Amino acid sequence: MRGKVYLIGAGPGDPDLLTLRALNILHGADVILYDALVGEGIKRQFPPGAELIDVGKRADRHAFSQAEINRMLVRLTQKHRTVVRVKGGDPYVFGRGGEEAMALAKEGLAVEIVPGISSAIAVPASAGIPVTFRGYASSVTIITGHEDPAKGATALDFRALADLQGTLVILMGVKRLQENVSALLDNGKSPETPVAIIERGTTAEQRVTVGTLGTIVGLARERHVEAPAVIVVGAVVKLREALGGK
Ligand code: SAH
Repeated sequence: MRGKVYLIGAGPGDPDLLTLRALNILHGADVILYDALVGEGIKRQFPPGAELIDVGKRADRHAFSQAEINRMLVRLTQKHRTVVRVKGGDPYVFGRGGEEAMALAKEGLAVEIVPGISSAIAVPASAGIPVTFRGYASSVTIITGHEDPAKGATALDFRALADLQGTLVILMGVKRLQENVSALLDNGKSPETPVAIIERGTTAEQRVTVGTLGTIVGLARERHVEAPAVIVVGAVVKLREALGGK
């Protein structure tokens, strides 16, 4: 028995933002592996007969290591025809979807990638912020905020990021918000630069906090901002009022 693995993106949270392809595959799944970003609305689309495996992992509580998940996927294809790995957003935008696909390819297994709507673009949109807008931003850069810019352990060039005229979108950036903001300020980005943090975007619990690079760390602390959240840095944040953002 050699089943197939579908690596599907479940979108940012609202089940209405699943693609038809993702929904069709979910409905035919024998076994579904999902992680912490996959919310209740999406889980309600899981078919009653499927075996469900929560491989949920967050910043500091790893339920399963990436190597374990990879091994599990390989093993499951020996028992099941349709193995579905569900990831938040798009499977190839952070979230290590590429590594899983590579582990499976190395075993000679069939993998199909089902793109999803990435939170990097959809969550700002849901808060009334277009990531590009003529005259405001002609580019958008998506980075991980998970690395520690202060320790030189980052592969990111904050000098170049601070110089960007376009929009900067930071995923996984709440825990190290202060370090990321300081790295931008230290490299010359103006403290007046608008910033928005959108928690649990596209869900009923969506909450938006707006400030500037100078004020956002204090605001986030006051409001107990928590992951998952998308951080948007740049002039486009100012469009939110005109566009009637929630
Ligand atoms: N593959 C995913 C991203 C995985 S990294 C995608 O394309 O969206 C995980 C990060 O995504 C979180 O730390 C957070 O920054 C962001 N994220 C995902 N869903 C979110 C949501 N509904 N609201 C806010 N941020 C979200």
